[in-house]
Amino acid sequence: MKKKAVNKSILVPIILMFVILTGFVIYRVGPFPTIPIFTWTSLDKAHNLGEMTPIKNYSPSYNLLVISKEYPLKEDMIPDISEYRTSGVLMATDITEDYGVLSDYIRENMNDTLYVESSYRSFADQERVYKEEGSSIAALPGCSEHQSGLALDVYVMNFGGSAFTNSSVGKFVNTNCGDFGFIIRYPLGAEEITGFAYEPWHIRYVGIPHSQIIMDNKITLEEYIDSFEIGSWYKYENYLISRQNPNNIEVPTKYKDYERTISPDNMGYCIVTINTK
Ligand SMILES: [Zn+2]
Repeated sequence: MKKKAVNKSILVPIILMFVILTGFVIYRVGPFPTIPIFTWTSLDKAHNLGEMTPIKNYSPSYNLLVISKEYPLKEDMIPDISEYRTSGVLMATDITEDYGVLSDYIRENMNDTLYVESSYRSFADQERVYKEEGSSIAALPGCSEHQSGLALDVYVMNFGGSAFTNSSVGKFVNTNCGDFGFIIRYPLGAEEITGFAYEPWHIRYVGIPHSQIIMDNKITLEEYIDSFEIGSWYKYENYLISRQNPNNIEVPTKYKDYERTISPDNMGYCIVTINTK
């Protein structure tokens, strides 16, 4: 009897300490972390591309600009803006065709209409929105992707904002926009990386194949751009991709006449994309 009582008196403080410590760890570190099914690191590197040709003059595309609180849009990095069809909606000229493909696909295959609630906003527009809505909702002027004309806030009738994903079109856009050149720029659970909470309605043009790589691997634009080693070449299907110093751009000589885009990333480098088909 006596022996049992002694054990009990030791056990109680031990159990109490365990409970307190576990509680403390959960409070400080958060609940047990979820382990991702797979971790994406980068595309496969392309080797033996042979001789290189320097590229001196090019007209940049702006599809891979990172625009964020950390990397605000520079004034000289604004794409051409055009009206989408005859809708009165303004967006970057480069994205009108691909947005049209997405919009037509939804009309023809899902019997619904995708609307644009907000598209291009000038610096002055963004300043006004920021003043009206405050910093918890609106981005600081310069930090909004809408100033580039590359981002669109979309909805279908009765399903706007965070309710967008309650509609079948919203689910479709959030799963398949990569096949149309767009990404969900602020995905769920990536607030620490993007600086924005989940916005299922905000689609951002980056172009194929980048949109497919980002959406298929469930990563952010920041993680994608960061995955490239400066000067290395990577392959994805029939594309070659390289992140390079803007003053020293070169392409493999054998592909120098192939279709390509060169986009500044707004972080000091350029992304060269070559379609080798
Ligand atoms: Zn938006």
